[in-house]
Amino acid sequence: MLRVAVVGSGPSGVYAAQTLVQQREVPGVRVDVLDRLPAPYGLVRYGVAPDHEKIKSLQGSLRTVLEDERIRFLGHVEVGGPLLSTGRLLELYHAVVYCVGAARDRLLGIPGEELAGVHSATEFVAWYSGHPDTAAEAFDLAGVGSAVVIGAGNVAVDVTRMLARGEPELAPTDMPQPALGVLAGSGVRSVAMVARRGPSQGKFTTKELRELGTLPGVGVRVDPAELALDPAYADPGAAAALPAVARRNLEVLRGWAEQDPDGTPRAITLRFYLRPVELLGGPGGRVSGVRFERTAPDGRGGVTGTGEYEDVEAQLVLRSVGYQGVPLPGLPFDPATATVPHAAGRVLRGGRVSVGEYVAGWIKRGPTGVIGTNRPCAKETASSLLQDAGALARRELPDDPLDALRAAGLEPVEWPGWLAIETAEAALGRSLGRGSVKIPDWTGLLTAAAADRPTG
Ligand code: NAP
Repeated sequence: MLRVAVVGSGPSGVYAAQTLVQQREVPGVRVDVLDRLPAPYGLVRYGVAPDHEKIKSLQGSLRTVLEDERIRFLGHVEVGGPLLSTGRLLELYHAVVYCVGAARDRLLGIPGEELAGVHSATEFVAWYSGHPDTAAEAFDLAGVGSAVVIGAGNVAVDVTRMLARGEPELAPTDMPQPALGVLAGSGVRSVAMVARRGPSQGKFTTKELRELGTLPGVGVRVDPAELALDPAYADPGAAAALPAVARRNLEVLRGWAEQDPDGTPRAITLRFYLRPVELLGGPGGRVSGVRFERTAPDGRGGVTGTGEYEDVEAQLVLRSVGYQGVPLPGLPFDPATATVPHAAGRVLRGGRVSVGEYVAGWIKRGPTGVIGTNRPCAKETASSLLQDAGALARRELPDDPLDALRAAGLEPVEWPGWLAIETAEAALGRSLGRGSVKIPDWTGLLTAAAADRPTG
């Protein structure tokens, strides 16, 4: 039997576990999927926006994998923390696959990032997704009239949309009750999403972009003069050379530039060719706006500064400029790429393969791609591991690793514990007259998980 630990129960971890047990070349593979949180599914639970029910429903197929009898979920197990080192984990399993994602946001590196009211989109996403590391009171939107979102990727679109949505659309989601209350009482009337490059260079996908135009009570504004700065906008030849997604995005933006959405209760404005140079402070150390420098295309896909500046008012600024991997104590890390060095998923230490250690997902390839991109990525890693299986399985292991984890002082939440959390979230929702509602704090999650254990 080959015993494998997968660290992280997001899409890449679950796909890695699935590939390992569903192949035929190496019989008898058993996988424990470990997660720091008591709840599984990683960014599908704590990153996909609550109003994206269709993507969230992917949890159903991840659940089927985690319920496979050859796979065991062990939540509330922190690897690289005080109770369990990476070295000890490798003593308990023939192989370990790290699928720990890219947990940190990137900074802009401009003055004013410490001002109150300036946050990362990652923090905002974690807050409305009920991540237990984010305090319920992290955001107060009552005094916020205007918000600026910096960046033009799908996360920027997500947070822009969540800021513009009204309570009737959010109440049916599983968003935690305190976050719903804050968004329901939000004073936000205007959200500007600002890109440093041109409309044909947005990183968002067309479906996500188009959705902004479907929000009840929200008008989308695009300045035709800003679109016209993009060489691909006016020149059909240049547009034809663009990737299909960029061409479709341009058409959506063109449609918005041609309409006049005046009179809607809330507005989203999409801005282009503006790079942030300073976050401006107002009374009480709170942000009051963002100073941008107008940019111009440099002919090579980048932009240059023009020396012209524009201040955009904001009482809330979310920087949405990409995620970044975080070093896990005991694992090698390349700070330049914020990933773990690897060869086809085999972890490299000082350029040499580290026997028994593997990576998949964002910590392997960086924070790019949609959820499905993790499937081939995890497959590549799993097939490297399976090629190595003969040598790895020769090592004698102690008995059930769960006993060793408990002996180390860990209190793993097993699958029935997670099901008890789900039951408690359904009951919480019923008590609030809503569907299932997330429990957003550690105590609440662990108390709910303990309900699966007999008392006394
Ligand atoms: P992203 O797609 O890499 O976009 C980052 C954005 O930040 C880009 O527009 C980039 O502009 C901008 N940026 C970077 N540094 C900047 C700076 N210093 N100043 C101003 N702008 C800056 O990252 P993401 O939005 O975090 O998304 C991460 C991944 O998750 C992506 O693959 C995304 O598609 C995926 N995702 C998908 C969905 C969905 O499918 N619904 C939802 C959320 C996330 P430049 O292009 O000029 O560098």
